[in-house]
Amino acid sequence: MRVYLDNAATTPLYEEVLEAMKPYMTTYYGNPSSIHSHGREAKVAVEHARKKVATLLNAAPAEIFFTGSGTEGNNMALRGSVEALGIKHAITSPIEHHAVIHPLEQLAREGKIQLHLVALDAKGHVRYEHLEHLLKKNSRSLVSLMQANNEIGNLSDIVLIGELCKKYDAIFHSDAVQTISHFKHDLQALPVHFLVGSAHKFHGPKGVGFIYINNDVKIKPFIHGGAQEQNMRSGTENVYGIVGLSKALEIGYRAMEKDRSYIQSLKDRMIQQLKENIPDIAFNGDSEHPERSLYTVLNVSFPPSDDHDMLLFNLDIQQISASAGSACTSGSNVYPHVLAALKTDPKRNAIRFSFSKHNTAEEIDYTVEKLAAFCHVGV
Ligand code: PLP
Repeated sequence: MRVYLDNAATTPLYEEVLEAMKPYMTTYYGNPSSIHSHGREAKVAVEHARKKVATLLNAAPAEIFFTGSGTEGNNMALRGSVEALGIKHAITSPIEHHAVIHPLEQLAREGKIQLHLVALDAKGHVRYEHLEHLLKKNSRSLVSLMQANNEIGNLSDIVLIGELCKKYDAIFHSDAVQTISHFKHDLQALPVHFLVGSAHKFHGPKGVGFIYINNDVKIKPFIHGGAQEQNMRSGTENVYGIVGLSKALEIGYRAMEKDRSYIQSLKDRMIQQLKENIPDIAFNGDSEHPERSLYTVLNVSFPPSDDHDMLLFNLDIQQISASAGSACTSGSNVYPHVLAALKTDPKRNAIRFSFSKHNTAEEIDYTVEKLAAFCHVGV
């Protein structure tokens, strides 16, 4: 049996998405900027996709910009708001994805901002009273806090954060790469200025994402050139990628509740079986909590062992793919900064299992059986 439990790293492409993309790789190959009919049909596809994404997220089409990745969207929001909106202070958390932490650190190195880290509670959730304290001290800040953590799955209350930002006239960016198409977003109601998504995390193609930029904020172009994407992000559009992104989002919205309860049932099954079959098992962050954590992510802390380094390797030999660190960070044997910030015991092996609707109960049972054998306990 070959088991893929690394869906927070990337998800398999839906067959229906591939079918939607194919004509734009073959028949409709025009450049959307060309004014002849070949160009116009590609342009129509891009604008149709934009409208679909905007409708699903309850935004205006002019607020949706296609990008090359979630990383790019985050960079665009952070640098764009610092350089165009007179921001001098940024507030983030130590467990953001590197696609947020590194651009902010770079802006701080360039002397453009002072960077402040919000305190976390023992489970890794933002301490909202500390966020308010930082906002009170530093007016007109940029706040960048993710909706869900990719390593431990912790969910943040982005409505509450957005309301706090409003109160202190701050700009709010949220990396929603792990939640787009897994939860509904109503951008007319959500108090965010920037929200970022990436297609390959919801069964779309790699190398394409989007950023929502609220109409009330105006930032400068991120990539200069041929003035595509309302002159915000020049470069010939990834037409088939954009078509694939919008199709994947549409499919995600079709059966979101049903998929969610199915995936949650797999996660619950794994939690229960791990507890029953492996002594001294624990879960990192708030990973075990059904409401305060992503239903797609379970971060497991295994008992300390001399050969704990081998666990992921042994799983791989058994054709089970999971993750030890962020797969978006090259070199996955680096101890994840998220777990380091939470001060988890480095002697205990932590593995992130992440699920999609393609996984089955049999795969969970098989994985736990192998894990129990590696941990030298019979099932
Ligand atoms: N933000 C989060 C929370 C992620 O999990 C990832 C990828 O793992 C990214 C950003 C980067 O997205 P992309 O791979 O599209 O650059």
